[in-house]
Amino acid sequence: MNVVLKECKQYDVDAIAIKVIEALSQLQFDFSKLYNAKVAIKPNLLTSASPESAVVTHPAIFKAIVRIVKQYGGVPILVESPAVQSLQRVMKKTGYDAIVTEEDILVADTSDCMIIHNENAHHFKRFEVPKILAECDLLINLPKFKTHALTHITCAVKNLFGTIHGMKKSQWHIKAKSKDEFAQMLLDLYQAYITDTNLPKTIVNIVDAITIMEGDGPGPSGKPAFLGVIGASYNAIAIDYALSQLTGFAIENIPTITMGFKRGLCSTPEKIEIIKDAGISLRYKAIPPKDAGSTKILAIPIINKLLKNIMIAKPVPDALKCTLCYQCKQICPVKAISNSTDGKVPHYDYSVCIRCYCCMEICPESAISLSKPLLQRILK
Ligand code: SF4
Ligand code: SF4
Repeated sequence: MNVVLKECKQYDVDAIAIKVIEALSQLQFDFSKLYNAKVAIKPNLLTSASPESAVVTHPAIFKAIVRIVKQYGGVPILVESPAVQSLQRVMKKTGYDAIVTEEDILVADTSDCMIIHNENAHHFKRFEVPKILAECDLLINLPKFKTHALTHITCAVKNLFGTIHGMKKSQWHIKAKSKDEFAQMLLDLYQAYITDTNLPKTIVNIVDAITIMEGDGPGPSGKPAFLGVIGASYNAIAIDYALSQLTGFAIENIPTITMGFKRGLCSTPEKIEIIKDAGISLRYKAIPPKDAGSTKILAIPIINKLLKNIMIAKPVPDALKCTLCYQCKQICPVKAISNSTDGKVPHYDYSVCIRCYCCMEICPESAISLSKPLLQRILK
C-alpha cells in the first residue's frame, strides 16, 4: 500500500498540477481512465473562510485537479455540502465560484440522495450520500489536513463525511456520541465508500498539506501553518497516517487511524510504503488540538449526566468576540444552544450538550474555545 508525498511550496496552479501528475504516476494511476469519465471532486468547504485561513481546501489545488481531469478528457463535478451555510456562499468567500464559472464545472445537488450500504459495518450499515455519485466513474477525495477537537485530525477519512447533506451531518453526533463511536461511524462510512458497488470504483485521495491547520481546528479557531506537501494515496487511512506522522501527531490519539488498522481497512504501518520527495522529513511539529478529555462516558447515559461536566471539556463562547450570529445554535444537533439571556453570547445548556464541538467548528468569529475539564485542572 503506497502513499506519495510531494514537496510543493506554493499555491501555484501549474506547479501543483505538475506535482499531482507526478504523484498519481507514482501510484500507477491509469490516466486513460479519465477519458469521457465523470469525475466527482470532493474538497473540504467547511464554511465561508478565506483560503489563507486553512479552513478549506485551497482553491488553487481544486483548480489544478479540474485542469488535469479536463486535460485527459474527463468531466469534473464538484460534490460538497457545507453544514450550515449555503454552498454558494461558501464558494464565493473561498474563491471556488470563480473557478466553477471559468472552468464551466457542474456543481452537484447534494440534497438529491441515495442510500449506500456497508454489510461489514462495525455498527452503522446505511448512509445517505449524493445520488450523483452513482453516475461517476471516479471520486477524487480532496481534503485539507487539519486538527479537529473531536477526532484529533481531519483529513481523507473525515472528508468523506462532508458528502452527507448539510445539517444531516450533525444528526450523526447523536447516534455516535463519544470520540470512539464517532470514529467507528466515520470508518463505517469509509468502508461503505470502498465496498458499495453503486459508488465510483476508483477513489483517490489527494491532500492539501501545503498549508495545514494546527491548534484548535478544524474551524476558524485553528491556526494555519506551512508544511509544503501534497499527499496522495488510494487508501484514506494510509494517507492520514503518513501526514500525521510527518507533522508529529501521536497516532494513538487519532481513533480513525488506530481503529482503521485494527479493522483491516488499511495494512499495518510497517507495510505502508511512503514514497517521498528528498526534501521531505519530519519538518514541522504541529500544535495538537486541546485535549477534550475522555468522551467514552457519553455512551453511558446515567454516568454521562453525572460526570461529563468534570471530565470532558465544554465549549465556551467569548463575549468579546461573539456577534450573536447564532450559527452555533443552528448546527447544534441536540438544541443545547438557545438565544442569549445576557445580550452578549448565546445560552449554552451543558447538561444537554453532547460535546460534539460542531459549534466550535462552525463559529465564524473563533469565539468558542474549550474550557479544560475540572478533573484535568485538578490533576495538573
Ligand atoms: S459563538 Fe460564534 S457562532 Fe455562536 S453566536 Fe457567537 S459568533 Fe455566532
Ligand atoms: S453545544 Fe456545541 S458541543 Fe455541545 S452539543 Fe451543541 S454543538 Fe455540540
